[in-house]
Amino acid sequence: MRYSDWVLITPSGIRYDALEPSQIVELDMEGKAEGRMKPSSEWRFHLDLYRARPEVGAVVHTHPPHGTAVAVLRRDLPAFHYYVAAAGGTTIRCAPYATFGTQLLSDYVLRALEDRTACLLANHGMVTIGPTLEEAAQLSVEVEVLCGIYLQALAAGEPHILSDDEMQEVLDKYDEYRNPTPRKPWETGGR
Ligand SMILES: [Zn+2]
Repeated sequence: MRYSDWVLITPSGIRYDALEPSQIVELDMEGKAEGRMKPSSEWRFHLDLYRARPEVGAVVHTHPPHGTAVAVLRRDLPAFHYYVAAAGGTTIRCAPYATFGTQLLSDYVLRALEDRTACLLANHGMVTIGPTLEEAAQLSVEVEVLCGIYLQALAAGEPHILSDDEMQEVLDKYDEYRNPTPRKPWETGGR
């Protein structure tokens, strides 16, 4: 997560259930690490996302089973459910494959996350972003659930995909929900 002019990131090679606060690594915006531990091997895309997108307060990167299974198919998660729009668009993109920890992977992740808050990583996993750690983590769980439902639907038949118009209506509603137009007193009965 972003913390003032710093990035706090989990260390490389420590089990999360054994992780102590003192083992969290501080990175400056140039990627210089403070602390005893080495940062996560994926520090490049974490840092590049904070640098490129000032609205991002947290980045969550995971290898969850359903999200990774869709990423192994190297397939964008299509608009098979209206909730795909929760990540900001009509699909959740799958970034092309690149070796973990490389600048190339970071470039692919940033491109796949354009106008989005979630993406899959081919043959690897998933990334979500948000204004806070809670929101990025919540979205990560929601995208994993969506990927599970998509795989079940694929196994049972051919999922029906919502049209761009149908998804645009959902995206407009989300916009309205996030940035409500202030109501005039005569629209709310004076309340
Ligand atoms: Zn990874």
